[in-house]
Amino acid sequence: MDTPPLASGLYIVATPIGNLGDITRRAADILARCDVIACEDTRVTGKLLNHLAIRKPMRRYDDHASADQRERLLAEMAEKSVVLVSDAGTPLISDPGYRLVREARERGLPVTSLPGPSAMVVALTLAGLPTDRFLFAGFLPSKDKARGDTLGALAAVPATLVFYETGPRLVASLEAMAQHLPGRELAVARELTKLHEECRTGSAAELAAHYAAHPPKGEIVLLAGPPPEPDAPEGDDVDALLRVALAEASPSQAAAKVAKAHGLDRKALYARAMELKEAP
Ligand code: SAM
Repeated sequence: MDTPPLASGLYIVATPIGNLGDITRRAADILARCDVIACEDTRVTGKLLNHLAIRKPMRRYDDHASADQRERLLAEMAEKSVVLVSDAGTPLISDPGYRLVREARERGLPVTSLPGPSAMVVALTLAGLPTDRFLFAGFLPSKDKARGDTLGALAAVPATLVFYETGPRLVASLEAMAQHLPGRELAVARELTKLHEECRTGSAAELAAHYAAHPPKGEIVLLAGPPPEPDAPEGDDVDALLRVALAEASPSQAAAKVAKAHGLDRKALYARAMELKEAP
């Protein structure tokens, strides 16, 4: 079917991560109307295009492409509509495209992005871990020392951590998390949107034991919930904190200070501070 051409520029197009039904109508429309498709692997993208009954010229592109290849694509964008897709999911998310988008923007070329599937978002919405704040950290390094250092650097971040992972490395990563991210709730989200989709939650030790016994197949997102809250002080501990604060502040100020530092109820602390002041 003939479709009207698109305005020139770069179109970032997200594609399914396993279930072809997840292609958006807008993505299919832009793929059908563009002049050129830049992709990681012409065979992989060719299958998607076959499914959509679309035939288009394809150019292989990744961020390690030569400056000449990138230059050619940028030159095409000035006159033609160029779509960038990756093998699956959203381009630029642990996938090529960053350099191309940056250079296109620097040259004032039109760039637009069509939202669609990304494994990290699917996993986050599935795992039941806090989603109000999260940090996506891509793939962990494969070497033990570098993996431990990366996890150590992320350990204090008060957010759910999201990683891409592979089956052969999963158990080693879970064991490293048991050591560097103790006390967290973890989730392994596997084969998302596909027939054997699975999301398993538990401690790092539980999940490591499970996957050591059942080596995982397919694609994986690994998530770690935020660091556990330190136990709130109570009883004698609270009295000790209040006494220290009362040594240099009024009961009201002491209560406010301890409440803020430990996430405790200010009114209750004030009442206790008054008691301590009267009968130290
Ligand atoms: N750009 C893609 C996206 O937006 O999700 C990610 C590309 S990255 C090279 C590939 C990794 O994403 C896989 O190794 C896996 O960790 C994760 N992934 C992709 N599809 C997945 C799926 N269906 N289920 C679980 N993880 C998936």
